[in-house]
Parts: sequence; structure tokens; C-alpha cells
Amino acid sequence: MKTIHLRLILDVNFDPNGVDRDTLVRQMHDVVNRAVNDGTLTGETPATVEHYNFKVVKRRRKKRSVKKCKKCGSPLNQRGRCCDITCPYSDHPQSTALESLYEPNESKAIINNYPYGVCPDCGWKIRKNVKEGDDCRNCGHVFYGSQAAENAAE
Ligand SMILES: [Zn+2]
Ligand SMILES: [Zn+2]
Repeated sequence: MKTIHLRLILDVNFDPNGVDRDTLVRQMHDVVNRAVNDGTLTGETPATVEHYNFKVVKRRRKKRSVKKCKKCGSPLNQRGRCCDITCPYSDHPQSTALESLYEPNESKAIINNYPYGVCPDCGWKIRKNVKEGDDCRNCGHVFYGSQAAENAAE
């Protein structure tokens, strides 16, 4: 005789009211065992349960996969750029290292602070990745991002 294989999928969200998870799991085991043993599964029909197998599993709530900017937490647009236009990641992908977003600007400010982007003492070109307080490799002149800082240092 042909057997009919059916699967009952029962998802339950409990409000535990202080009851622990293991107790609720046992409760779900009881539901199945009782239904099989007291005939609920087959009711008034002449069918019989040949075999059953079940498990109770904890379902995880799916996390929403809205990606957020690693710097400011704003959501990212479809291109993966930060929605906050004041955030450096609005112009750069999240894979860009945070430091590298700032260094070029810092360097740019320093280079712009010196006419022609060269050392005021010796005329050597200031290197592109120069940082506040770096010195000229040729003459030792210390570079700053603002004239005020430059004056204060002298
Ligand atoms: Zn951002
Ligand atoms: Zn120099």
C-alpha cells in the first residue's frame, strides 16, 4: 500500500511571559506527541500513523540587510554611497579606508598653503601625501595647512 507523506509546518511566536525557551520547546514536543498518540492526527478516519518524525527549531528573525555607512550610519544608496552629502562616503565607496579619505584633503590644504605648491625656502615641490608638520626632505622646512599655523611655528 502506498503511504502518503505530509508535512505540517507550524510556526509559533510565543510571548513567553517569563517562561523559558526550553519549557516552550518541551511544550511543542508535547503537542506533537499527544496528537500522534491520542489519534488527533488521524481523527475518526481509519488511517493510521506509520511513522512520524519532527523537530522543534528556533527560528531566527531575519536581519534587514539595509546597509549603513560605516562612518556616519546613514543608509547607503543603490550605488553604495552614503546618503548624507556631508559625509565623505557620499563620494566614495565603503571599501575606501577612512584615513585615505582625509589624507588627500589634508595634503591638498597644505600644498595650497604654499604658492605653486613648493617649499618656500628651497623651491622643492611639496610631496602629494604631505601631512601637517612634515618637513621638506631637501631643507627641513616644516609644512602646515594654514598660514596661521606656519606663522605660529616660526
Ligand atoms: Zn556616511
Ligand atoms: Zn625646502
